Amino acid sequence: MSGNGLLKTADFIILGAGVMGASIAFHLARRNAGRILVIDREHAGSGGSGRSSALVRMHYSFPPEVELALISLKIFHNWRDIVGETGEFRRTGFVRIVHPGESELLKQNVAMQRGLGAKVELIDRLQLKELEPDWQVDEVELAAYEPDSGYGDGNVVANDFLTAARESGATYLSKTRATNFLIESGRIGGVQTEQGEIHAPVVIAAAGPWTRPLFQSTGFDPPIETEFHQVAILKNAPTMKPGAACIDSVTATYFRSDGSDKFLIGDFYGKRPIDPDNFPQRPSETDLEDIIERSARRVPKLESAEVMRGVTGVYDVTPDSRPLLGRVPGVEGLYLCAGFSGMGFKISPAIGLVMSELILEGRTKAVDLTPFRPTRFTEGSPIKADFEYKDD
Ligand SMILES: Cc1cc2nc3c(=O)[nH]c(=O)nc-3n(C[C@H](O)[C@H](O)[C@H](O)COP(=O)(O)OP(=O)(O)OC[C@H]3O[C@@H](n4cnc5c(N)ncnc54)[C@H](O)[C@@H]3O)c2cc1C
Repeated sequence: MSGNGLLKTADFIILGAGVMGASIAFHLARRNAGRILVIDREHAGSGGSGRSSALVRMHYSFPPEVELALISLKIFHNWRDIVGETGEFRRTGFVRIVHPGESELLKQNVAMQRGLGAKVELIDRLQLKELEPDWQVDEVELAAYEPDSGYGDGNVVANDFLTAARESGATYLSKTRATNFLIESGRIGGVQTEQGEIHAPVVIAAAGPWTRPLFQSTGFDPPIETEFHQVAILKNAPTMKPGAACIDSVTATYFRSDGSDKFLIGDFYGKRPIDPDNFPQRPSETDLEDIIERSARRVPKLESAEVMRGVTGVYDVTPDSRPLLGRVPGVEGLYLCAGFSGMGFKISPAIGLVMSELILEGRTKAVDLTPFRPTRFTEGSPIKADFEYKDD
């Protein structure tokens, strides 16, 4: 079912068919959890997921994020066997360049990542130049290199997970917006939609940048701000070849090849707040010029690359740039999965797994989600990694 008929009851309602909602549906359905209903105000992938640059890397400074990325990478690599669809993951390799002066932090983080099983090595300037001869690397002391990382596609991931969940019995309703939660005596009873009420004892909110207003009636205010981001897509200059994806603190940009003939560049910084229902659909020319000019300091051939188009999108950002995952205080049966702060794509396969463990078993096995609990800010416990970079 997709669209018109409205179910009246389910065992689980998942709000939002982005990569997170679809991944949760997939993992619940895989475990025959019961009647699963996914609703989306628009359609699968229509939020941040379908606009994502979709870089995949293991390089985080907070160990549980590395664990989530590692589980996800295995799923990306074995997509057909696990999800049953063709998938869209490109193994290009990934390079992390940090600010000069942060090499010690880089070393510590790489050691921690290796300890958790990540395939990552430290490379020096000469090795980086050998790997990427087109990059200007004069000031780079050390970089981290992950040969197995790369990039994917948010639309494909959301739709593949959803297709597999539906094949296992889940129901999906597009164009079905939840307007409020149904709460009685501190327990969730379902959701109010524009087409009527749907009842369920468990509701999982994976509504990305639309989360905060939806929670007004719950008594819990998720600290999620919206941030506008712009991405440039260029046609490769004649001698440019596809290379590794990169996050580069020095130019404050991230970039990757896009297929065999294009190049994608994104900005570290964005403007807050922004209305997720009303934001520019095209980047500003001045901002694109600025992004390209900065990344061309790293990849000088970009100076002669032609701009093809731009992508815009909205991040759902929390004060420590980590997601809010877990039970909503004061409302039994209501779960929150949002606030991915521009970094959710790469961990979405694992998020569905751990959220399904939490919902079905009351605790997680694969990765401990306690540090990500939605109440951590009011408790005065934001996440702070041991070896955080200035711009983490
Ligand atoms: C420009 C851009 C670049 C990015 N680059 C990267 C990257 O390189 N690597 C990376 O890992 N991450 C990246 N991200 C972040 C990543 O894409 C997101 O963290 C991830 O897609 C979030 O998925 P989600 O399912 O939580 O949210 P979304 O994809 O936003 O999905 C939320 C869904 O909920 C639905 N919804 C909202 N409200 C309601 C309601 N009331 N009722 C019913 N449905 C509702 C929406 O329609 C939407 O489909 C990027 C994001 C953007 C915008």
